[in-house]
Amino acid sequence: MSKIYEKAPAKINLVLDVLRKREDGFHEVEMIMTMVDLADRLEMEELPRDQILLSSQAGFIPLDEKNLAFQAARLLKERYGVRRGVYIHLDKQIPVAAGLAGGSSDAAAALKGLNRLWNLGLPTEELEALGAELGSDVPFCIRGGTALARGRGEKLETVPRPPQCWVILAKPPINVSTADVYGKFRVGDVKEHPSIPQMLDALSRQSFQDVCASLGNVLENVTLHRYPEVRQIKDCMIKSGADGVLMSGSGPTVFGLVAKEAKVSRVYNALRGFCKEVYVARMLT
Ligand code: ATP
Repeated sequence: MSKIYEKAPAKINLVLDVLRKREDGFHEVEMIMTMVDLADRLEMEELPRDQILLSSQAGFIPLDEKNLAFQAARLLKERYGVRRGVYIHLDKQIPVAAGLAGGSSDAAAALKGLNRLWNLGLPTEELEALGAELGSDVPFCIRGGTALARGRGEKLETVPRPPQCWVILAKPPINVSTADVYGKFRVGDVKEHPSIPQMLDALSRQSFQDVCASLGNVLENVTLHRYPEVRQIKDCMIKSGADGVLMSGSGPTVFGLVAKEAKVSRVYNALRGFCKEVYVARMLT
């Protein structure tokens, strides 16, 4: 019985801007996203019976049709008439409901892995289109690398990767719902929008300093105000010497970019003083 593995890396937003609320309820966004090497790992194995089975060592995620990896498998089966069963084990390393697109990345890894396991031969563009049916961040998680995302996040353009650096991620012990944050967001409240052209320019010049200076996320307006612990983490990262600091997605995870290895332990130790979930990662190149 064949078995395959697929990694599902976490994403961070270097820029997240919201332009307006659309008629369909979604928000029109402009984001620059990139992957880090903090990753879930999916093990996918053929089952003798035609069913989708899920397991995980993480006790707090759904293992039924609410799980995005389950939905990915079901979508492929329905769309391409696959009558084979699969057992998916999710080794969760990415914190849940953290603004790091853990669920979306699992869905992307399931689509890519099952495309191989079931010999469907679907090209990446088709997988991305299927991914968009599962969630706005899924197409980017399929493509990987670094991308400018428009629309509700599904219209992608690959852009240069950021220069290699350390990425320190800290998640306070609170659950933040993405829908809730977008629900409370008002474009009119934003005093200063981050500049996509400025970040693209910094990326094309591979200037670490300018990448740090161009970080921006308008959703901080909502999350930082509602959850003082997120602001506290941001302040701590800045004070302890991170070169660039930003909240990822709708939060609550905050990431700090650090160029010099010698500085990593200083930032890490400062955070560990009051935050249990701290991760040290590298940009995925
Ligand atoms: P995003 O930034 O894309 O909104 P997130 O990183 O904030 O996502 P996720 O970790 O994807 O959040 O989890 C959001 C919710 O999705 C969880 O509360 C969980 O119930 C559900 N979920 C569904 N599938 C998964 C999965 N494979 N891993 C984690 N959570 C999942």
